[in-house]
Amino acid sequence: MYDYIPISTLNDFIFCPYSIYLHNVYMGGDEEMAHAVPQTRGKAAHTSIDEKKYSTRKDEIVGLSVYCNELGIAGKIDIYKGNEKLLVERKYQLNNIYQGQIYQLWAQYFCMIEMGYEVERLAFYAIASNKLFPVELPGNAGKEELAGFIGKFKSFNPEEEIMVNQNKCRHCIYCNLCDKTEIENVYT
Ligand code: SF4
Repeated sequence: MYDYIPISTLNDFIFCPYSIYLHNVYMGGDEEMAHAVPQTRGKAAHTSIDEKKYSTRKDEIVGLSVYCNELGIAGKIDIYKGNEKLLVERKYQLNNIYQGQIYQLWAQYFCMIEMGYEVERLAFYAIASNKLFPVELPGNAGKEELAGFIGKFKSFNPEEEIMVNQNKCRHCIYCNLCDKTEIENVYT
């Protein structure tokens, strides 16, 4: 049986590996308790996708569950526009595009390819500004990079010493639950 890594956690792992441990602890409890404003907005941006209400166009697939056996990852895409062979990930706001977000889109892409879909373009879509931000296809080098990153994710031990960055902690939704810092986050 495959042990898939959820695509949605790749960005969190870059932000702080220990947050994955806390995420898993709180996913087992009341997830709502751990959500801060930015993440709640992010979830709202995906609600119509999760409920498959976003599009009735025949050439679009929304909220499809995807997996990639080769990389050991699974998750959901936002929107695949078949006519354009375009895979889109929506965000409420996009001031910067972080490497973790790109890894998430790459991960969705490799899942789609393994599942037999044709994808020739990738993009983020910012809801607040109604703008599309194209992202280059990862190619073989990107696949190797992503595989290496997933390898680090799989081998992470939460008991290991981690680099605590107080600035990140201040903006971390798990801050109040974390035993690595005494700091208060900006959401309280
Ligand atoms: S509070 Fe700091 S150390 Fe703890 S999970 Fe968040 S970023 Fe990591």
